[in-house]
Amino acid sequence: MDLEQVNAYMAMVEKSETTTNKPIGNKLKVGLDLGTAYIVIVVLDEENNPVACEKQAASVLRDGVVVDYPGALTIVRNLKEKLEARLGCELISCAIAMPAGTESSIRTHQYVAEGAGFEVTNVLDEPTAANSIYQIQDGVVVDIGGGTTGLAIFQNGKVTRIEDEATGGTHVSLVIAGNYHVSFNEAEAIKQDYKRHKEIFPVVKPVIEKMAVIINQYVNKDEIDTIYLCGGTCCLTGMEEVIEKKVGIRTVKADNPFLVTPAGIAMNC
Ligand code: ATP
Repeated sequence: MDLEQVNAYMAMVEKSETTTNKPIGNKLKVGLDLGTAYIVIVVLDEENNPVACEKQAASVLRDGVVVDYPGALTIVRNLKEKLEARLGCELISCAIAMPAGTESSIRTHQYVAEGAGFEVTNVLDEPTAANSIYQIQDGVVVDIGGGTTGLAIFQNGKVTRIEDEATGGTHVSLVIAGNYHVSFNEAEAIKQDYKRHKEIFPVVKPVIEKMAVIINQYVNKDEIDTIYLCGGTCCLTGMEEVIEKKVGIRTVKADNPFLVTPAGIAMNC
């Protein structure tokens, strides 16, 4: 998909948060994204058309690992029930994804999904899931979520390297909280308000630059010509420009980078 097609598709996924679409065919494909900041479930039909989506802010994972199992279970059950009520049918199976480097925690992620009543049909890493949307052959997909910056390098459509480091949106919020002398939750609200992105930019820029340094460690300018961003933190206005300048590689992102990974997970169910 080119960026225009990605944006059109992601707009439909975003709309499915409030509007339930009639699925084509009988099979529903479900993607469960257990994140550090949000838990998201995306439902697609068998032709990958967005059907419905639900999300909830959560702090039941740390650095990509489930630290509050009962809390995670409750949220996933609630989201599943909400979606089933919207769709009028039971959701049977789902795919899940892990940040790279947390493979030893796959079981816990799986237990959460299974405890909520899903059969797990596929386990992916997050940037690879995101590439189901971008569909790049060569380049790097960088997924910056709440807790981590993860990246997957693709050559000829195949993943050649996966990395993940613990810097994400939580760190951005902590910096805002410190600078504005407000609570973490207030800082989150400021950060997620697009109208305030220009104002907070000088405060958050050093954290974005830290993310750029992480990316720079793993990408080779001679091999990579484009960085594709996704993950909720990439909603920050001007993020791609800071990374492009610091790393020296063209950097692009979908209009709504937040739902790219969850939608990509669902495509692989
Ligand atoms: P991880 O992948 O690290 O486990 P996650 O899956 O929860 O975390 P995402 O759901 O991709 O990560 O992104 C969550 C992050 O995106 C949070 O830090 C949240 O504050 C941030 N975020 C969401 N919306 C916005 C916005 N409009 N502007 C800036 N940041 C945003």
